[in-house]
Amino acid sequence: MTTDLADFITNAQMIDTHEHMRTEQVWVEDGPDDVLRSLFESYVCGDLVSAGAEPRAVDRLLEAADGDIEGRWSGVEDAWRAIEHTGYGQAVRIAAKDVFGIDEITPDTVRAAQPKLDELRQPGERLRILRDLAKLDHIQTDNGIRTQLPDASGPGFFFYDISWVGFVYRGVDWDLLERETNVAISDLDSLEQAMRRIFELHGKYAVAVKTQHAYNRTLCWQKRDRADAERAFARYRRDLDHTDEEARLCFGDWALARGCELAGEFHLPVKIHCGYYAGNGSMVTDRIRAGNLCPLLIEYPDTRFVLMHIAYPYSDELIAMAKHFRNVWADLCWAWSLNPVASADFVRRFIHAAPASKLFAFGGDTKSPTDAYAFSVQMRRYLTKALETEVEEGELTEAQAIAFAQRIMYENQMQCFDVEATRTANVEALTAAV
Ligand SMILES: [Zn+2]
Repeated sequence: MTTDLADFITNAQMIDTHEHMRTEQVWVEDGPDDVLRSLFESYVCGDLVSAGAEPRAVDRLLEAADGDIEGRWSGVEDAWRAIEHTGYGQAVRIAAKDVFGIDEITPDTVRAAQPKLDELRQPGERLRILRDLAKLDHIQTDNGIRTQLPDASGPGFFFYDISWVGFVYRGVDWDLLERETNVAISDLDSLEQAMRRIFELHGKYAVAVKTQHAYNRTLCWQKRDRADAERAFARYRRDLDHTDEEARLCFGDWALARGCELAGEFHLPVKIHCGYYAGNGSMVTDRIRAGNLCPLLIEYPDTRFVLMHIAYPYSDELIAMAKHFRNVWADLCWAWSLNPVASADFVRRFIHAAPASKLFAFGGDTKSPTDAYAFSVQMRRYLTKALETEVEEGELTEAQAIAFAQRIMYENQMQCFDVEATRTANVEALTAAV
């Protein structure tokens, strides 16, 4: 028997704070060509490799042009048996069952499901999957670029982050930045002008600022002396590859600080990847703790920080930060598929420690609409388990649990992000363009 709580969580419209969603054109023209690729092109490959699959067998699994489906599947089948119950594996099974009607992944069942994928890769289907099947109010995408223009494939539905990671570590195409901003960049003064210009041009269409520099450097941040940053910038600007690590960190810290100041001024939250790495063989756990960011949070009390992925596995520290800092929100994006049981437990620990207004329930963190759908189903299932346990143990009434779910699935995001202004700016720009 389903409860009112389960019914609410299964059907409530929610906000998706983090995706890398393919554009409509890429989904239709260059999306996954076959069902095996569609099911496995996401994070799950990391688990397959950790389980012992050869990286080249995993590459072959995704090679839709290779018609030997038996050969592609047999190279990873043992590893799949070892990981089908991880969060990633579970999401694959949900997509297989719900999207393609597949109970058991075999060469025959994926071959039989091919017409369904062909149907889904038609214009408008991407929006329908996300809006109608996943029941999302809108999605927020980081597509890795600074310039955010309205997306005509779903007016008021597809929102974008301004990417800041190039400044913080990965490097900047300076010629492109000069063209985008019409500022000649020769020193920190002119760079600051260009940074401001990015916000003036794109701030009203963007929903947030985003950086995932934790993949490349420590999250530790310190306030930098301007003269040191000027010298570091001169090297960074001239030859990134031969800039020593200390200069990169110095310039990156300076640039992140400017991004946080501008984001505060332009009322955009700053999203920062914290915790686990996708892929294999590169994670350095000390770098990725959200606690490394504390000096930054103290320095910019008027900037809203969204700390992503519950900083898994350093999640309890993040609860303490959301409890302590007025300017910190915790985001469960991607976390449910990393570890659904830990995420459900995180929600329960959060309820009893930190304000209910400081948590976001969902982001799929994928480029695929069918994966985002599967992740949303997984999240709804485990959030239901977490809150039903709270009700069973007498800590929350069912009505309180429903109100809490509504907060973290929708209301908190509406309050932290300026959703209505962003939606209006995007829709008006598209209407004016017609
Ligand atoms: Zn991401």
